[in-house]
Amino acid sequence: MSAFSAIGEEQERDRNEYTPGVEPQPTWCPGCGDFGVLKALKGAAAELGLSPEEMLVCTGIGCSGKLNSYFESYGFHTIHGRELPIARAAKMANDGLTVIAAGGDGDNYGIGGNHFMHTARENHDLTHIVFNNEIFGLTKGQTSPTSPKGHKSKTQPHGSAKDPIRPLSMSLNAGASYIARTAAVNPNQAKDIIVEAIEHDGFSHVDFLTQCPTWNKDAKQYVPYIDINESEDYDIDVNDRRSASEMMYETENALHEGTVLTGRYYIDDERLSYQQEKKRIGEMPDEPLAERYFDD
Ligand code: SF4
Repeated sequence: MSAFSAIGEEQERDRNEYTPGVEPQPTWCPGCGDFGVLKALKGAAAELGLSPEEMLVCTGIGCSGKLNSYFESYGFHTIHGRELPIARAAKMANDGLTVIAAGGDGDNYGIGGNHFMHTARENHDLTHIVFNNEIFGLTKGQTSPTSPKGHKSKTQPHGSAKDPIRPLSMSLNAGASYIARTAAVNPNQAKDIIVEAIEHDGFSHVDFLTQCPTWNKDAKQYVPYIDINESEDYDIDVNDRRSASEMMYETENALHEGTVLTGRYYIDDERLSYQQEKKRIGEMPDEPLAERYFDD
């Protein structure tokens, strides 16, 4: 990879450009929803014309944490639940980078939940993709924060006594300025949402439903899904917080009753990102570090 050679060169790209030449094929299980995230991210990067050198993918621990091994870009495989602090630091140091933070539901809604809350509150200019398969996959199927109440696993053999977390509502209340849910079974919508999330200035949270056929055999395969922005049965104003809140609450209830609702829930294009706020008060340079140090 020639460092920064392609920055700023807009060109049409093919999704295969994001397949590393030296890595083995993904070791995810057949039928795993994680393949859908990888495909959607490659499609989005190609559509946006981003060079691999312009992107950083930070991941946590779990099956989802392998994403940056299978995606050609800069990468940082961090520790459990900590991809957001690393991603934030990288974006602060070089806001010319397109920064993606990715991990699982246990990683981000449990172990790294505190980071999630404050990164959303501060509106860091990142795209945060959460692989939500309602369990811990890599460690062999333990109950996670999104497992439905009553879900049986090795750690909860009599069924979970806990209500699952509501990730969309949590994100809205914490302060994310772009919130969407998509699913691996819906690749076109997933790619379009990731394109939008990357283009959004501010914290973009994509709750990505990813089936785990190995350890969550009873789980929904997230079909059929309904796109709330296209269905005439749902009415949402994505720029209105109250409307988004009501639709999120309905969506999170519906999922555990077997109805899979997906789409864009909340978009605030007015609010300044953390990076924009820092520039406004003079604590961050206007031009990205990469332009200052590498253009000549
Ligand atoms: Fe995917 Fe589950 Fe296999 Fe992990 S254990 S690779 S989440 S199917």
